[in-house]
Amino acid sequence: MQNLLHQRCFNHAQREAVARCPECTRFYCRECVTEHDDRVVCSACLKKLVRPPLTRRPAFVRIFRAAQCVAGIAIAWFFFFFIGESLLRIPASFHEGTLWRVHWMDEK
Ligand SMILES: [Zn+2]
Ligand SMILES: [Zn+2]
Repeated sequence: MQNLLHQRCFNHAQREAVARCPECTRFYCRECVTEHDDRVVCSACLKKLVRPPLTRRPAFVRIFRAAQCVAGIAIAWFFFFFIGESLLRIPASFHEGTLWRVHWMDEK
């Protein structure tokens, strides 16, 4: 700890260091360090620590979203396909006399 007292911030030469970054082993003042995963790291290392999951996540999310999109289209396609199929299976006689009948013309 005695060593820390004589250290100055890596970014601010006039400020006394309050913490040492475990990643880059440099000394930093209170303003330059942030807590991340119960560890005190400098902002430069925080960016490095945060970036990997961020770059990893979009790739996973993109694959997941693409799969979701394909699944959604497939579900929608099957849904409409089976509706169409079931509508085609209904015999024409079912609709006979029920559709396209204009009542007001008959009433005349
Ligand atoms: Zn650092
Ligand atoms: Zn500083």
